[in-house]
Amino acid sequence: MWLRGRETRASQRFGACGRPAQYAARRGCPHGALPYSLLRAPGSSQGAPQRMSRAVFLDRDGVLNAYLPGDYAKTPDELLLLPGVGAIVQKLRAAGYLTILISNQQGVAKGLMTPADLAAVTAKLRAEVPLDALYYCPHLKSEDCACRKPKPGMLLQAAQEHAIDLSASVFIGDTPTDAQAALAAGVPFVLVLTGQTKDPAGFSPTPNAVAQTLSEAVEWVLGSPRLERGVNEPRASSAKAAHEG
Ligand SMILES: [Mg+2]
Ligand SMILES: [Zn+2]
Repeated sequence: MWLRGRETRASQRFGACGRPAQYAARRGCPHGALPYSLLRAPGSSQGAPQRMSRAVFLDRDGVLNAYLPGDYAKTPDELLLLPGVGAIVQKLRAAGYLTILISNQQGVAKGLMTPADLAAVTAKLRAEVPLDALYYCPHLKSEDCACRKPKPGMLLQAAQEHAIDLSASVFIGDTPTDAQAALAAGVPFVLVLTGQTKDPAGFSPTPNAVAQTLSEAVEWVLGSPRLERGVNEPRASSAKAAHEG
């Protein structure tokens, strides 16, 4: 199953909120993101205090895959991964960072793609990019949910579910919306110029760093004295291993 949370009755196509049942099943509907989590949420077992983790949050479109102006990657074929992103993201995992996708996907709510389409696109993404967890906001902008960027809902949810120290983490994104969500959550932000933003002049809120590519952004993260590595044990496991885990 892609989606955690309680099962919905097969005959029930839509929840009380009007969202497809898969979304209605999420807590706080329609104000809940879809955590395609590959990790067990910490705190599920009682015992020693959780050690805080560090994460690199990654926007999807324009960061991991080609930005399609005015369009959505509705099928796996339309998800055009940028060169080398799998190996680049793996560097972060090897340095001990959790790698977590934070993505608005209102194409689902607009009816341009089905949850199954999104799952198929996500399967391709996960096969290529080692991500520890993925969060999607499937809601319309007009729904005013708590998870849609520029709100910080998905970052806060991820932090809670994976015991993440937000101030020791980084968000890599390509839009002011990403930067606003990062700012609201207290997460340093690195702007990459591979997506919607081609010229960083006047970009607001001001990013902590500007990188031409994801590779440069990752080098900034790994080289930043403010974000010393070492909180997490380095992990060399692949996306496949994470999936199995
Ligand atoms: Mg983007
Ligand atoms: Zn949402």
